[in-house]
Amino acid sequence: MFNVSTIELSAEALRANLAFIRHLVGKGPALCTVVKGNAYGHGIGTFSGLAQDLGADRFAVYSAAEAYELKQQLHNGAGLYIMGDVDGPGLDWAVKHDVSFNVFERARLSQAIKSAQAQGKRALIHLEVETGMHRTGFALEELPQVLETCRLNGATLEVAGICSHFAGAESRSNHLRIQGQQKRFKEALAVAERAGMPIGRRHLACSAGLLNVPGSLYDMVRVGILHYGFWPNDETRLRFCHAHGLTTDPLKRVIRWWSRVMSVSTVPAGGFIGYGNSFQAQAPARIATIPMGYAYGYSRSLSNAGHVLVRGQKAPVRGIVNMNCITVDVTGIDGVEKGDEAVLIGSQGGNSISVASFGDLSDQLNYELLTRLPAAIPRMVVDKHP
Ligand SMILES: *Cc1c(COP(=O)(O)O)cnc(C)c1O
Repeated sequence: MFNVSTIELSAEALRANLAFIRHLVGKGPALCTVVKGNAYGHGIGTFSGLAQDLGADRFAVYSAAEAYELKQQLHNGAGLYIMGDVDGPGLDWAVKHDVSFNVFERARLSQAIKSAQAQGKRALIHLEVETGMHRTGFALEELPQVLETCRLNGATLEVAGICSHFAGAESRSNHLRIQGQQKRFKEALAVAERAGMPIGRRHLACSAGLLNVPGSLYDMVRVGILHYGFWPNDETRLRFCHAHGLTTDPLKRVIRWWSRVMSVSTVPAGGFIGYGNSFQAQAPARIATIPMGYAYGYSRSLSNAGHVLVRGQKAPVRGIVNMNCITVDVTGIDGVEKGDEAVLIGSQGGNSISVASFGDLSDQLNYELLTRLPAAIPRMVVDKHP
């Protein structure tokens, strides 16, 4: 009720992105849809519900807290997998509900066994191997013993997978490091094979791995950012489009974020707009105020830098982004009035604001700006964007 802004998710766009991803993944490997960070800001419940309707059947989150929230939204039978933080009561909950999770250290392995024993359940675990990311994961030397522990506790543990994560497969400059990771992952698989026990699905690739690292798909691919219609970075987009002779982006943005013009006013030549003196009108200007500020996820770094779309045209942000509103210049746009839709991200009348230009910052910030969109903004599904 009384919303300042709305985020719309396009079913058409997600359907297209899923088809694109599935085509790349091929028939063999399973696709796991990564929805951590509130589904990259798209809204974990709304996004995952839509993805499930469109055929996604496996979801990965970072923490037990996210898994708990998502579990309420998923139909029965969808796979749920925690890649990072799970502990204490969260771990017990995961075991109880057949939610699989990464195990990358001894303490968690023991905890999984204890929890499963206490509940008369079998814990579903993925063994994470350290291959060069140096974040979490069992060292190769520990692996034989870990596998032996798993084998001895076969009644309470099911190894659902063995995995690792690339430390920057989106950039060619990391090529040697990525190659080293592939090599160590192969060694880990050889160790597991020698142990002669089932190790479930082998998985290594994220979006950038899928696109840039041949031979990294194995039995499952964990894909996040591509679902939402973004590339891991621009280099990856250019490489892909060049290799496939594409001149247009095959991905479609799922998100569209809009608010409304709250009032329109006139500023005389020489007038300063908003707090302080960061922007002075050189000529008489028409300024629209939009009730959207840094308190709602519209970054202060967009002061005198961002753009919004009004009546299909780009209106530059003038002055400082306030806590609760921004002022944009609509001087050249005919007939702007109170109540007009103002698009913060996405398309309107043939023009569009990408997250990158919304941020006008480096690629990695796509991930950051998206995930910082407040959870309180209502999300809704639409058939397609205008
Ligand atoms: C975030 C994440 C992914 C997905 O990464 P994208 O670049 O969004 O495809 C895959 N695996 C792990 C372990 C992750 O943390």
